[in-house]
Amino acid sequence: MRRPLLIGNWKMNTSLDEALELARTSASVADSVQSRADVGVCPPVPWIVTVSELVKGSSLTIGAQDVSPESDGAFTGDVSAEMLSPWCQFVLIGHSERRTIHGESDEIVGYKLRGARERDLGVVLCVGETADQRAAGLAESTVTEQIEKALGGLSSIDGTSLTVAYEPVWAIGSGQAATVSDAQGMSAAIRGWLTMNHGGIADQVRVLYGGSVSDQNVRDFLEAPDIDGALVGGASLDPERFTALVTSAVGPR
Ligand code: PEP
Repeated sequence: MRRPLLIGNWKMNTSLDEALELARTSASVADSVQSRADVGVCPPVPWIVTVSELVKGSSLTIGAQDVSPESDGAFTGDVSAEMLSPWCQFVLIGHSERRTIHGESDEIVGYKLRGARERDLGVVLCVGETADQRAAGLAESTVTEQIEKALGGLSSIDGTSLTVAYEPVWAIGSGQAATVSDAQGMSAAIRGWLTMNHGGIADQVRVLYGGSVSDQNVRDFLEAPDIDGALVGGASLDPERFTALVTSAVGPR
């Protein structure tokens, strides 16, 4: 019912040549699993147009890693949803690196989300608790509050345009993934919150797990009933690793 979704987040990595090679192999694996799953990548902004042109006609979708909440004006360094929308199908919003390094609050995340939806970009809303919040028993309340604040200002939500990526901050880039049981528990809590607050869309929204996902563990996460895919950082940067990851996520064991 919900198609698996695998997204590679390249962050501030790749030369142009590396980006083109990665885009070619990502498009090729996306085409090879096209009947069973959706695959997307988020290149750095300067490569988005070239990568998007390169993979046109393939089933690979292109996302941006961030977006300005504003539509235009004196916002030096920012990129608006309107500028991205000819080249991108979706955008990541609220990645923990934006929240921690750039101080993005839940309110800004919500503002960005509304701006992206006004321009019809799909949204991957990233949420997740820190190690201290988990240790204090606050993991679930932290995550549901992040979602509540991000979605709060929306008058209506289209479930197929919204994806939630649960990414515990301590699992990102650390080599220490969450257990499948913890990730499933949080994904069920996210779906439970959606059911309570936006009942009609809860079954449509895809919930991804992110944090040290590899070709070795991805299948286990996807077998959990409320996990519909993965948001992948490090393992999406190597053409062979990302191909192996996507194939192992959706292919036969
Ligand atoms: C991420 O940055 O979203 C991420 C999940 O990174 P990694 O896969 O490297 O942990």
